[in-house]
Amino acid sequence: MNKSFVYTLLFGLFVFWGSLFSQTKDSHKTFINKIYSEALVKTPTHKLLKELTTKFPHRLSGSKGADGAVKWTKQVMQDFGFDNVFLQDVMVEHWERGEKEQAYIVDKNGNKVEFSILALGRSISTPESGITAEVVKVQSLDEVAELGREKIEGKIVFYNRSFEHKHLRTFSGYVGTVNQRTKGPSQAARYGAIAVVIRSVSSGDDDFPHTGTLGYAKDAPQIPAGALGNHSANKLAEILESNPQQKLFLKINSQTLPDAKSYNVIGEIKGSEHPEKIIAVGGHLDAWDVGQGAHDDGSGCMQSISALKILQRMGYKPKHTLRAVMFINEENGLRGGKTYADSAVNKKEKHIIAIESDAGGFTPRAFGLKGPDSTLAKMQEWLKYFPDYTIESIKKGYGGPDINPLNKADGTPTIGLVPDSQRYFDFHHSPADVFSAVNKRELELGTASMATLIYLVDQFGL
Ligand SMILES: [Zn+2]
Repeated sequence: MNKSFVYTLLFGLFVFWGSLFSQTKDSHKTFINKIYSEALVKTPTHKLLKELTTKFPHRLSGSKGADGAVKWTKQVMQDFGFDNVFLQDVMVEHWERGEKEQAYIVDKNGNKVEFSILALGRSISTPESGITAEVVKVQSLDEVAELGREKIEGKIVFYNRSFEHKHLRTFSGYVGTVNQRTKGPSQAARYGAIAVVIRSVSSGDDDFPHTGTLGYAKDAPQIPAGALGNHSANKLAEILESNPQQKLFLKINSQTLPDAKSYNVIGEIKGSEHPEKIIAVGGHLDAWDVGQGAHDDGSGCMQSISALKILQRMGYKPKHTLRAVMFINEENGLRGGKTYADSAVNKKEKHIIAIESDAGGFTPRAFGLKGPDSTLAKMQEWLKYFPDYTIESIKKGYGGPDINPLNKADGTPTIGLVPDSQRYFDFHHSPADVFSAVNKRELELGTASMATLIYLVDQFGL
């Protein structure tokens, strides 16, 4: 063989391999484009979300709504013909709001001014006759300590700090303010306060109160606590400016009941080559008892089921087992996520990755990975497969609240869908979080992005 023949042969082989590679790449792209079309045209997620939020709008753990949602979700996955659908027992926290809360003042002229309020999750009730007391307005937990027992004892503490709007990602704004909800009540109680109201941790310019859990510290008495809508908080602050001695009436009727039995709902499509290796995808099925839990987190749950449904409908036979998990009790206990992780460790299950959508049904922008740098580098090479204007980055991040215990327990990499966050905290934990607040196309783009990620992990491994 002469040299030029060898070169020609090598060149030919090079072109051949190159075309093989680009064919494979093209076939992945074609398949992925179909995933997006399928989601946008058939809108499976939107249909399921409508049914979930209409039939079971209130899904707080231990409630009838949560119970109904568990049974319905199981039935949906069975009707879809998933290979294995089952319930996983979880003992959940059980808190009930009771009758509607009241907060109002009666001013010097005898006029009653009512405020929009929701009890915080886990709050104890006020006495039957309610609480009437002067109000101390503060900006922070530190300010409570500075004022001390002398100024706080016997009063209602009003945490009036606003959502931090300076951040581009609203999750940072939420994190910057949320301690007045989670830790504010116990901090006030340490200095003798008899109740707490907070300005809702909300980015909305409206009067929807936003609930969410508080955590009672062991070193402080438990006192009742509620969240005011932003406009109500403005009004109360204004009244206190002109009359610092103004008294507020507060009535909260909630109670904590014994732990209740509930379930994570799990559906699987079995893998054809490595059925023992699992790609998990999920959201949390429980939601606050106001609104319909549409963005938080009906969207994430219905996206997870729909992602599997789309792959199934397209005739895709996964190599690994695809598992959709509807976690229970994220909002007030995180017991579903913890139980799932414990069970996975006990059964020595092997998860390749766990994916979660729990940031609203908005236009997908990115994925946030909690996992090794090598995994991140590999996934970043997949960005070319996502259509323009969908997933534009894969970064280090936080997988999600329900899958985080699994990451802690056995090191499974976790990854969270990161949708556009600008409107999430207008709705989060409030009566405004309803089905009509979810845009069909934005929701389905999220589903398609999750189905695409599942497909890529299944094809290329990690
Ligand atoms: Zn959530």
